[in-house]
Amino acid sequence: PSTRLNVAPVPPDEIFALNGAYGADTHPQKVSLGVGVFRTDDGKPWPLPVVQKAEKELVADDDLFRHEYTTIEGDVPFLRLARDLMFGFEGKDSEEEAKARIASVQTVAGTGANHLGALFLGHHMKPPTVWLSNPSWANHMTIWELADVPRKTYPYYHAATRSFDFDGMMSTLETEAQEGDVVLLHACAHNPTGLDPNKEQWVAIADLCERKNLFPFFDSAYQGFASGSVAEDAWAVRYFFTRKPDMEMCVAQSFSKNFGLYGQRVGAYHYVTNRSSTSLRDVVVNNLCHLIRGEFSMGPRSGCSIVKKVLTNDQLTAEWHQDLQVMSSRIKSMRKALYDELSRLQTPGTWEHIVEQNGMFSYTGLTPKQVYALKDQYHIYLLKSGRASISGLSQKNVAYVAHAIDNVVR
Ligand code: PMP
Repeated sequence: PSTRLNVAPVPPDEIFALNGAYGADTHPQKVSLGVGVFRTDDGKPWPLPVVQKAEKELVADDDLFRHEYTTIEGDVPFLRLARDLMFGFEGKDSEEEAKARIASVQTVAGTGANHLGALFLGHHMKPPTVWLSNPSWANHMTIWELADVPRKTYPYYHAATRSFDFDGMMSTLETEAQEGDVVLLHACAHNPTGLDPNKEQWVAIADLCERKNLFPFFDSAYQGFASGSVAEDAWAVRYFFTRKPDMEMCVAQSFSKNFGLYGQRVGAYHYVTNRSSTSLRDVVVNNLCHLIRGEFSMGPRSGCSIVKKVLTNDQLTAEWHQDLQVMSSRIKSMRKALYDELSRLQTPGTWEHIVEQNGMFSYTGLTPKQVYALKDQYHIYLLKSGRASISGLSQKNVAYVAHAIDNVVR
């Protein structure tokens, strides 16, 4: 019998499909450079030492309320900490006015924050268009499609030079973006290219948004994970926030990578209003809560209890900063190891971009055909676009991967 549904197959998510294929592969030298998760040099997950400590303390606290409902907006002390981490507040009284501009709610990690933000703007701002970078995290397209906001892309990647196409981005937005459009910006460690604007370029992007009355929507999924410094990785967000007290913007914040809490779904959405008004802020929170209530009632609580434990204790916060250094420096050292090995092999082409790019991913410049050959002949898995998750590299497999790349590009 025919179904009442009007459904056609949707292509599987490339990253999760790749992960499945990797799992099913029995080859002893297989390498996963697909999904963006941190791995140790032994290829194992790394529950952050500070997170393990915080978890033990939470168990010892034996809080009777630990499995209870929170509130629709989420865990309010957690949200204050998340906001302060993102915007750089240090808890001074003088900052109260600036804090009154920010409406924060808890979300289902960074994806949920992007989604809630898209839905909220779709309902209450009705942007003519959202501008996404080309390329961008593939899920951005899906999220804005579900929110029913028309999507366009701005150039971001200059393939010939494997660099950030700042001029292309600026001229497209300058000539084609219209007043009221949303511009989606990656706060740091752009996924998938690993290429970020420099500070001067960020200033020019902010000027453009202001002049053309575009709405900046920051996606922050790698704060502290990219450079090792939470302040450095939040520079763009903090710059946009402080340059003028009346620029509206928003931030989708994820704790998946920087706390290694991937499956716990920890995140927040922050809407920055154009004036310091607790009543406006409260109305924004109240409207966000309406969307949350109809969708998931409230964010999950155990992961944000961990973040809260760490960020309310100076010693644990210092240990977290050390853990961020461990993760970011391992990634940097694997970039260097791959680059050194390709240089040693005199692999045709230029490979400096591997060390120059930032964060979890490298946009290698490998073609879909070369990517396919890596999988077929060498059991090395990366995205068709040539995006490689650097944390899948290790001292043990980097020479093998370089050798394979060398062979497929020759
Ligand atoms: N935005 C970007 C650019 C990302 O790379 C990711 C993680 N892959 C996210 C958002 C959201 O991640 P999560 O939902 O796991 O917090």
